[in-house]
Amino acid sequence: MVAQSFTEASTVLLDMDGTLLDLDYDSYFWNEYLPIRFSQIHNKTNNEATRIVHHALEKHRGTLNWYCTDFWSHEFQLDIIGLKTEISHLIAYRPETLAFMNQLVKMNKRVVLTTNAHPNVITLKNVATGLLTYVDEVVSSHDLGNPKEDQAFWHNLQSQLDFDPQKTIFVDDSSAVLNAAKRYGVGTTVHIATPSSKLPPKPCRDHPSINNLMDLLHPSMTLSITS
Ligand SMILES: [Mg+2]
Repeated sequence: MVAQSFTEASTVLLDMDGTLLDLDYDSYFWNEYLPIRFSQIHNKTNNEATRIVHHALEKHRGTLNWYCTDFWSHEFQLDIIGLKTEISHLIAYRPETLAFMNQLVKMNKRVVLTTNAHPNVITLKNVATGLLTYVDEVVSSHDLGNPKEDQAFWHNLQSQLDFDPQKTIFVDDSSAVLNAAKRYGVGTTVHIATPSSKLPPKPCRDHPSINNLMDLLHPSMTLSITS
């Protein structure tokens, strides 16, 4: 029987960017800050730099490379983590994340940060927020060799964590990732409709879709739409 409410779940898998942290930092970095710094470092016009950066990003979307800072440092011939650190003061929790995490630690559940972010980005974000103090374990798709979009990720995650899919809730802002988790057999998938503080909500029909993490803890919240 799939967990129908948050209290019935024993394992909680939480995405990082756009779920616990405001996606605006990442959107701003890749779409605006990186092209500006690329143009300065490589002596290109802003338009030229923007075109090169966006074209390259689009080419690798959805792959492990797309999430890999080492790959992009090599591809763009600059230090991605160094550049990300220049604007690390913009890294921020989403509204309600801290309230949610503080409740979660009292609930005796296994809490696993489950992210496509590179380990060095996890470190950067933890230094800025202290996020890792609220989780029991951390899994980066880079350690498992496949992004969350791939079935191989979920098979490898199962080998590593030995979680009960029926008693697991997975929260993410990517419907492609949630679809992959559901296909694998994760019992309860929850979509975050408000990943960025700068964008309007974008609900998803295939999974329960929420604006605020605290909604998960509301007694009337039904999380399964499969049965
Ligand atoms: Mg995300």
